Amino acid sequence: TLTDRLSRLVKTMRGQARITEDNVQDMLREVRMALLEADVALPVVRDFVARVKEKALGAEVVGSLSPGQALVGIVHKELAATMGEGIADINLAAQPPAIILMAGLQGAGKTTTTAKLAKHLIEKRKKKVLTVSADVYRPAAIEQLKTVTAQAGAEWFPSAPDQKPHDIALAAVDHARRHFFDVLLVDTAGRLAIDEALMAEIRDLHATLKPVETLFVVDAMQGQDAINTAKAFKEALPLTGIVLTKLDGDSRGGAALSVRQITGAPIKFAGVSEKIDGLEVFDAERHAGRVLGMGDIVALVEEVQKGVDVEAAQKLAEKLKSGDGFDLNDFLAQISQMKKMGGLSGLMDKLPTQMTAKAGAADMDKAERDMKRMEGILNAMTAKERRQPSLLMDGKSKASRKRRIAAGAGVQIQEVNRLLNQFDQMQGMMKKMKGGGLMKMMKKLGG
Ligand code: GDP
Ligand code: MG
Repeated sequence: TLTDRLSRLVKTMRGQARITEDNVQDMLREVRMALLEADVALPVVRDFVARVKEKALGAEVVGSLSPGQALVGIVHKELAATMGEGIADINLAAQPPAIILMAGLQGAGKTTTTAKLAKHLIEKRKKKVLTVSADVYRPAAIEQLKTVTAQAGAEWFPSAPDQKPHDIALAAVDHARRHFFDVLLVDTAGRLAIDEALMAEIRDLHATLKPVETLFVVDAMQGQDAINTAKAFKEALPLTGIVLTKLDGDSRGGAALSVRQITGAPIKFAGVSEKIDGLEVFDAERHAGRVLGMGDIVALVEEVQKGVDVEAAQKLAEKLKSGDGFDLNDFLAQISQMKKMGGLSGLMDKLPTQMTAKAGAADMDKAERDMKRMEGILNAMTAKERRQPSLLMDGKSKASRKRRIAAGAGVQIQEVNRLLNQFDQMQGMMKKMKGGGLMKMMKKLGG
């Protein structure tokens, strides 16, 4: 599995101070596999790995990092740099109406994204937005745009299956101009596969509309195929941006890297749900963590300068993974480690979007307060009690021990019991899972 691969990677070459021609090959093989598993297209992986190798060779390995960890840091940085250079918002610098043309295969999410974008432009940019569908092949497609446009609070310009896309486009621009719309979003037809007639049609639409943005909408679940789709659209149209949809799915989003590399266009937005508000400004840094699938290791690498003991964290992670001998000392170590890394919310920031979306800010505050209290309770225990939690759970003197701890931490006895319960559950869970423990445990701590 990927996790195995990565922990292997991190462990490789421990104790060597530099990344060298000798030790880099094995590590790069793991990186290559990780990227392929994230569905980055093969030629893109090759290019990328070559670039990473160049950057990595001779790079100084700082602090307590192993060369493997240092390499992960370099890979992460390069991934983020490849996928974006800062935040790229929609360009509206045109004589109104600013026209945005949506391109992509059928099912990629063009119609949905058109409405999401309309909502974004209304709310974030205070624009007056008109949508129109040039998808005359499926009558339902026009109705679909009408429905979602209403949800977005934008206006919809009617079109019909018996019209030519070219004529629809001209009529919509004329209407937008006369009614002082700031933006006109033009939704188009797509085929299941690349189709010459349809490419010619969208080229003609582009020539007619002269859009300020031509957005290529692509399904993140498309994986390896994304590269061919991207090639075809890049050849047909001067793309100005990419929208990567369905990032809420299982995909690790490697398509982002492929599509970005092939088209050279910036990834502007990410679709993260079917709902009208499921659109996010693309964050390359965060997405790099997802593609790499090792948010926690990347965070560790970044935190080295802040004095986090990477070795200890790793030992702990391994212990958690095996579920063996996990005791209250580990529980305490886990909490103080989290504190050093900026607390729960600091840590959550480093994890992929979907995970953090669930935990609201208020929950987070509460979780952090709980964490502090737990730390207090754990500190009020003796080292022996922490090493041997059974003393508190079924030992003869457990009642008096717990009374002492509660008094020491300034909490009620029930709170000590709750902590022990939580610990007990976690220990059981960890034994069952054998792996992925760190993430699940953090979720648990987060409520
Ligand atoms: P089009 O053929 O390119 O216009 O694609 P549609 O906009 O009709 O979308 C195709 C399907 O994908 C629909 O069921 C959408 O609800 C769904 N969809 C679009 N974007 C997203 C997304 O970001 N996340 C999820 N989960 N579904 C999406
Ligand atoms: Mg559509």
